[in-house]
Amino acid sequence: MIVPHNIYIHVPFCASKCNYCAFFSHACKNPDWNDYEKNIINEIEFWADTLGSISVPTIFFGGGTPSFMPNKTFNSIIQTLTSKFKLSSDCEITLEANPGTIDEYKLNSFIQIGVNRLSIGVQSLNDNTLQFLGRRHDTKTAIKLIETVQKKPIKLSADFIYGLPDETVSDIIETCKNINSLGLTHCSMYELTIEPGTPFSKMNLQMPSNDEMADMYCAISETLHLPRYEVSNYATPGNECIHNLNIWDGQAYIGIGQGAAGRILIDNQWYEQMGGGKKFEKLSTTARAEERIITGIRQVRGVYLDSQVKKIINMQYVKSNPDLFQFTSDDRLAATEKGMLILDDLTLNLVR
Ligand code: SF4
Repeated sequence: MIVPHNIYIHVPFCASKCNYCAFFSHACKNPDWNDYEKNIINEIEFWADTLGSISVPTIFFGGGTPSFMPNKTFNSIIQTLTSKFKLSSDCEITLEANPGTIDEYKLNSFIQIGVNRLSIGVQSLNDNTLQFLGRRHDTKTAIKLIETVQKKPIKLSADFIYGLPDETVSDIIETCKNINSLGLTHCSMYELTIEPGTPFSKMNLQMPSNDEMADMYCAISETLHLPRYEVSNYATPGNECIHNLNIWDGQAYIGIGQGAAGRILIDNQWYEQMGGGKKFEKLSTTARAEERIITGIRQVRGVYLDSQVKKIINMQYVKSNPDLFQFTSDDRLAATEKGMLILDDLTLNLVR
């Protein structure tokens, strides 16, 4: 049986490396885009040979900095996807963009080729903070890009980072008020984590305590005008990222490009695909159900309790912690506001 697969395409190049970044990305001012395009097309052809002409509900270009990609490269990739797969008529095509790497001319061209959702890495609305984070853009450039995209017939999201050294709850409330004034319909609020090997990991930074982080997290949902729909994501209804919703709910997806991972489904058998490329290995039904719990419970709507999930989820833990969980009418189990605050622990217990 052929099932729909979402597609994630990794673009691993950035003009420089941010101070907190542990993502798979190369700092490179002049990437070899021809070589990149050739490899991506090669991988797409491999998956078309392996899976046939599957339908594709969403495509997500993540990075690195996908907006760094020349129009020609993006066009060739979309043309190849269109010729090899059945893209749904309402296929969501998201491109991650960094301010300063895409002007209106390039944006128009990307939209013409197929982009219908842009996700901008704004990270902060304060120039000193942007500098501290090692971002290449300033606030003015980010706001200009947001305003330009808001005039186009596409969806828009912006990413922000909170929980910086010395940041207080009043700071984050101020930030959220400024975000509100941008009139966004989707934004992501990511807590800063210090990853090994990054410049930040060598700076002995005084990070907010767990309690302070939790207070900031609550202040965000109280101040932002957008409702939360996932632990770090906020949107007005209808503006959620469909690609992410599909994946958090356990749909199949192909990872294309060096830093991409995927979950492939062929004849009812799940396969794990790590690090892009053409390799994939069998994944047990139990392991796949565990993954569905781990990603599903991050959503406000919760994890869908299909028969496999029901078989392995720790219902004893759920029953003995009624303040952390709620059942929804569409057969899902969701974390309460209190549960969301201790999501990592709660998740471990659910799959134990
Ligand atoms: S732009 Fe994104 S991927 Fe690139 S270095 Fe900065 S955080 Fe990492």
